[in-house]
Amino acid sequence: MIKKTLLRIFNLYFIIISTILISGIFVSEICINSTVSEYKESVSSKKAEEVSAYATRISNQILVTDYLKSTNDTIDNELDVAAELYGGRILVVNSTLEIIYDSYGRDKYKTALMTEILSTFKGNNVSNVDWKNAKGTLCHGITESNRINGCIMFIYSLDKESESLNNITHTLNVISLAVIIAMLFLGIIISLVITKPLKGMQQKLDKISNGDMEVELDEKGIYEFKKVSESVNGMLTRVRATDKTQQEFVSNVSHELKTPMTSMKVLAETLLMQEGAPEEMYREFLSDINQEIDRENNIINDLLELVKLKDKNIVPNITRCSINEILELVLKRITPIARARNIEIIYESYKEVIMQVDSNRIIMALTNICENAVKYNKDNGRVRVALTSDIRHAYITVEDTGRGIPEESLNHIFDRFYRVDKARDRETGGSGLGLYIVSDIVRLHGGTIKVTSRLGEGTKFVIKLPLTQKSTNLDSVKSN
Ligand code: ADP
Repeated sequence: MIKKTLLRIFNLYFIIISTILISGIFVSEICINSTVSEYKESVSSKKAEEVSAYATRISNQILVTDYLKSTNDTIDNELDVAAELYGGRILVVNSTLEIIYDSYGRDKYKTALMTEILSTFKGNNVSNVDWKNAKGTLCHGITESNRINGCIMFIYSLDKESESLNNITHTLNVISLAVIIAMLFLGIIISLVITKPLKGMQQKLDKISNGDMEVELDEKGIYEFKKVSESVNGMLTRVRATDKTQQEFVSNVSHELKTPMTSMKVLAETLLMQEGAPEEMYREFLSDINQEIDRENNIINDLLELVKLKDKNIVPNITRCSINEILELVLKRITPIARARNIEIIYESYKEVIMQVDSNRIIMALTNICENAVKYNKDNGRVRVALTSDIRHAYITVEDTGRGIPEESLNHIFDRFYRVDKARDRETGGSGLGLYIVSDIVRLHGGTIKVTSRLGEGTKFVIKLPLTQKSTNLDSVKSN
């Protein structure tokens, strides 16, 4: 609950405004501080230089007039004028630390114990500024024959400078406040510009998640939003296409499964209605029913195989096999149906080809192609099966002298449930899934399948399969 409330408070709107505001305050603080300290530095060093120049000049006069030993009015007057000029206090101390001049007159003849004076006698130059009390202090040693015999201490006023400093700080504060307010407005504008399209997108995405797949995102302003819109639209197009394919698939499957059922029902009903039907009729109808059951079985088996091929969790069982042996087995299987229609099977292979395959699936694919070559052949026709290889691939050619496939159908024969002649081909007992499964199996092995055909003359399938399997081949078909 607290987390939810915090998330609601720290929304994008808040984050953008506060970031811009904090940056504004931070930058203006830095500007004010650096300007003020630069001003202080330049003013104080200028003032110190001025006072120091005067101190040097007066200390020379003090030496010339031997003022440290016996004071005189000329220097006293001069110092009075200077104290007045700098708006502060001047002290002159002799070598015994006795104050021999005090422009305030307060501490004359007293012993000077100020740290600045003691430090000057130790040979240090003392100059410091106290901006808080608007005053500066400068101690200048009076040196004779490399010995410090006395010291002049200036405590000068920085009232004027302090006043201008206050004025500058005030002006800077006003400017920075104006900048911060401007930044606040800028933050509000930027966050509106960013959050408005986001809100629009969110509303549309909500609609999509509620099932309205016809919604399209159309953000055009900011580049990133445009890109997100494009990606989401692309995803929606794919989802719609998948949806459509799935619907088509379900309706095709239902239709395919229903057809043998309807035939069986008609056959059974006819028999039931015929009272005292002859045994031959029973046999004939039951054999037809039996065929329909086989067809239903074929369709279900192919569907199950399809599901397996699309299952990302089922790993193909790749082993090293002799493709010659596989082809011999396949041809042995189809020989009886070929013989029944006097179709000659010619097998050409000149060397043994060993390769890595999922043998059960390759058997299934080759059986399908060879079976089709017999099924769609003419009586007394021919099927030629050839196997060759180079260093990387095996090439299996299955060529028949059958009825051929029209050019406009060549691109579709690998589609699910596609049949060139819908009514006639269904009679052959196929599911219309055979070549679709074949192409999936070939792709699973990283191979290709090509078909060429001449109507009325025959069809030729060439399957190219790599001899060895890379792990990436095995994923390609699953992502399809
Ligand atoms: P089916 O189970 O109907 O045989 P397939 O997917 O194996 O389905 O084949 C799809 C269609 O391609 C077949 O219905 C048929 O029209 C055509 N076809 C496949 N192989 C051949 C071939 N060798 N000669 C002529 N037509 C073929």
